[in-house]
Amino acid sequence: MKKILKRILLVLLAVLVAVQVPFIYRRYETGKRASAIADMQAKRVEHQPDGFREYRGIIHAHTSLGGHSTGGFDELIKAANDDSLDFVLMTEHWSDEYDTSALTLNGTYGKTLFIGGNEIDTADSDRFLMLPGSADAAGLRREKTDAVIQKLHGEGRVVMVTYPETLKTWSADFDGIEVLNLKTAAKQLSWLVALGDVIWTAPAYPELMFAQQLRRPTENMTRFDEAAKRRPVGLFFGSDAHSNIGIHLFGDDAGHRFINIKVDPYKTDFGIVQLHVLLADGTPLTRGSLIDALRARHYFASVEAFGNSAGFRFQAVSSAGTQAMGDEVKLVDGVTLRATAPVPVRFVVYKDGVKFAEQAAATEFTAKPDGPGEYRVEAYLDQLGLEADRMPWIMSSPIYLR
Ligand SMILES: [Zn+2]
Repeated sequence: MKKILKRILLVLLAVLVAVQVPFIYRRYETGKRASAIADMQAKRVEHQPDGFREYRGIIHAHTSLGGHSTGGFDELIKAANDDSLDFVLMTEHWSDEYDTSALTLNGTYGKTLFIGGNEIDTADSDRFLMLPGSADAAGLRREKTDAVIQKLHGEGRVVMVTYPETLKTWSADFDGIEVLNLKTAAKQLSWLVALGDVIWTAPAYPELMFAQQLRRPTENMTRFDEAAKRRPVGLFFGSDAHSNIGIHLFGDDAGHRFINIKVDPYKTDFGIVQLHVLLADGTPLTRGSLIDALRARHYFASVEAFGNSAGFRFQAVSSAGTQAMGDEVKLVDGVTLRATAPVPVRFVVYKDGVKFAEQAAATEFTAKPDGPGEYRVEAYLDQLGLEADRMPWIMSSPIYLR
């Protein structure tokens, strides 16, 4: 009897060891990818100044205000400062009892400007991020989407679609679409694979571990390109940072925990996807100038865990001058679309949602438009060894040629 038990235990142990092997290999591959990123970044190319200064931050973050999250201000500020983020766009859930956008972080803490916004619901069951937030956030759930957006625009706020897969009122006049949401992407991961990665890869490469599993949000891009046919709209990746997924054993209410693994601290979430915003040279970064740039769609989305994407540009160049991503541009003879990147990428230009032009292994690419339309760029790092077209490093807001 004793002998059988010993044998069973030995077999179990062997199985336990054997199932670790693929995860150890994944950690090895991730390490190789991290060195490839470092090598690429060491050879960054600087492009000519274009009249804009770039600011890096994140959009869509929650704290324990309004529920759902266990995150606090101290962790949030430290994470934003450690990552040298220029801004964090807070989007607190609404509360009937108090104004969560006023009670969350507003103003500059350390190196980072915070704007207190809200995540809101409408009577049409649509969900938006509004910036800045408002004391009326909770009440908006009783009004129709069109009325809500009209009202918020009248008050100088910007309104961005979150969870586009659930949006009903596509005709509404929103300013931007969150084509990728980290929280939604995390839910699509296999928990078994995630557990192995959390043990083996996350300690050394927490951001890259997650980023390399992201997939191009193809369905949301189809929705985005449809919406962009009707009117100008920008696109971004939302962090949806909550700092609330993890396991711990033996904790107390004061937060003391024995064996405490948190998978999504703010620090990790902030390093995975980011928003790069362009402000005209000489315009200081303030609450007002940042909201204006969001309204003008002067931004691009990046998987920053694949490397610092600062310096990416998408422009329309003509004798009339240079215009930025997000702009509506008059189609004149000689207008050229120009994209630049700080390291060699594969540029893919889409026109009205259809692949229009492509160039691999380049830091600069120009294309002649063939008529009016919505043109945007995706930049891929094929050298990272991920399957081609799996997930772009960068996605730009479109240029709208009229
Ligand atoms: Zn959210």
